[in-house]
Amino acid sequence: MFRKLFSRLRPRLAEPHDPHGLYFYLTCDRCGAPVMIRADKRYDLQRDGEHGGFLLRKEVMDGRCFTPFFITVRLDGRYRIVEQTGDGGSFISWEAYKALTGLEDEAHNTKEV
Ligand SMILES: [Zn+2]
Repeated sequence: MFRKLFSRLRPRLAEPHDPHGLYFYLTCDRCGAPVMIRADKRYDLQRDGEHGGFLLRKEVMDGRCFTPFFITVRLDGRYRIVEQTGDGGSFISWEAYKALTGLEDEAHNTKEV
């Protein structure tokens, strides 16, 4: 009963979000594993004095080959992404992340049963 209602309310898997979180999705360049990153606006961002926005530098590690890599994201004053670079990883969309992890398939299967 609950499951039925749940799947009807959420036909597609929604991207995670919270008031302080910034979410990024990547694949490891070495092994191709998908990784989800959550950065906290309060703790993880540095003021970018030069451009008037914020700068995020974060170490990322996937769960497959465990090779750490770095991402650098430049944001404007409203937390909109201006530039993003991955040194050892590549940025992908939420849709691509879902497809790679099989999250969407699981949700779909649950609905069919
Ligand atoms: Zn990897």
